[in-house]
Amino acid sequence: ATVIVVGGGGREHALATALAKSPQVAKVVCAPGNGGTAVEGGKISNAGCGQSNDEIVKLAKEIKADMVVVGPEQPLVDGIVDELKLKCPGVRAFGPTKAASILESSKAFSKDFFKDCGIRTASYENFTDIKSALEYVSNLPENKRVVVKASGLAAGKGVLIPETKEAAMQAVNEIMGDKTFGSAGDTCVIEEFMTGPEASCLAFCDGTTAKLMPAAQDHKRAMDNDKGLNTGGMGAYAPAPVVTKDWQDEIEDMCIRTVEKMAERGTPYVGVLYAGIMLTPEGPSMLEYNCRFGDPETEVVLPLLETDLYETFKACCDGNLGEVDVRFKDGFSACTVICAALGYPEKYPKGLKVTGLQEAAGIDGVKVYHAGTSLASGDTLTSGGRVLAVTGMSRGLKNAIKTAYSGVSKINFTDEHGAGKMHNRTDIAHRAANAKLR
Ligand code: ATP
Repeated sequence: ATVIVVGGGGREHALATALAKSPQVAKVVCAPGNGGTAVEGGKISNAGCGQSNDEIVKLAKEIKADMVVVGPEQPLVDGIVDELKLKCPGVRAFGPTKAASILESSKAFSKDFFKDCGIRTASYENFTDIKSALEYVSNLPENKRVVVKASGLAAGKGVLIPETKEAAMQAVNEIMGDKTFGSAGDTCVIEEFMTGPEASCLAFCDGTTAKLMPAAQDHKRAMDNDKGLNTGGMGAYAPAPVVTKDWQDEIEDMCIRTVEKMAERGTPYVGVLYAGIMLTPEGPSMLEYNCRFGDPETEVVLPLLETDLYETFKACCDGNLGEVDVRFKDGFSACTVICAALGYPEKYPKGLKVTGLQEAAGIDGVKVYHAGTSLASGDTLTSGGRVLAVTGMSRGLKNAIKTAYSGVSKINFTDEHGAGKMHNRTDIAHRAANAKLR
């Protein structure tokens, strides 16, 4: 089969690599892909086109694709799956339709949906007019902390966590008044502030049921000890020991109920459902759904998958996931994201030369996934903030971390003067590895 992977991050490099392992897959074409998928070789190549709906439809026809796997949320929310169904019948499109991706594109919708399904979630109110939102906040008890969220897509930046009532009023003003996140802030969700460890739980969904993958934890802040700015993700590991077997089952049940309810609504959910969970004293509580694989969670979860990924995706598209025995390896994986110098996520240099990739990839248990890289006359150059995701695999978590960092130690980014310019966190998964396991 010929498969198109839409997107160009570390997530898509991991998807392409896992798909290429299937004996049923002859070609994996990445659109647009990155400097890593360009040189991966074997079955993997880049298409040389972008990821707009039109370009993907055209490419699918041109190369007679059998399947299109969509990485990022934007094309899904823009209806790429609907378009493929319409214009390329016979091509399996893995991902939710525009109507089903509302689980990510509207937080207000998903909060109401959680309530309907009886899924535990922070208590909340949705607002479409700023006056009522401000009034609601001003009537809150003085010591009641809330979280203020722009309902729409805001590239992971639309959640504000004010510490005081005054700051909460300001958050509402920013989202609904100043429209800092554009129309994403037309509706806003104000919810109870909760505390607890978080986990990313991804599930394969076939429109009627769901199967959960091992839970991952990611590290959002730029610096060690969770200091610095929020980023797209600086590392992750899986399985996360804080998610016990019982909780894993409970979360899977939430995903199954979600898929069942979506089918009932006439908007069946096919693709990956990413449940952002907070582990509270009452049990797992749903923070949000994303309608696609996470990045860098994909770079730790997929290397653990034992089952053929192409067959799994095919079963999801055909509505018979129940017939696939989705299995994962026993070990652990940990991944560190390497950024272009300390500036990320604000301002960072581009065009740095990446060295040591071969040496890193040569280490047993190491896999280097590219994110923001490009190729120029044989050199790999940095082209984005998050440049590489280096994953280490081993039977134990401590060794998986050690393996990932041994890969990182071989890599360097140098500027035109040969000066080293890379940044990565040095404490990925340390808390979990050092915690006494129950
Ligand atoms: P992303 O797409 O990057 O995962 P997002 O902007 O879609 O994020 P959420 O995942 O809903 O938004 O929230 C981002 C973060 O804000 C969460 O990971 C969590 O740390 C925090 N957060 C969200 N809701 C709450 C809450 N009710 N109480 C405490 N913290 C919260």
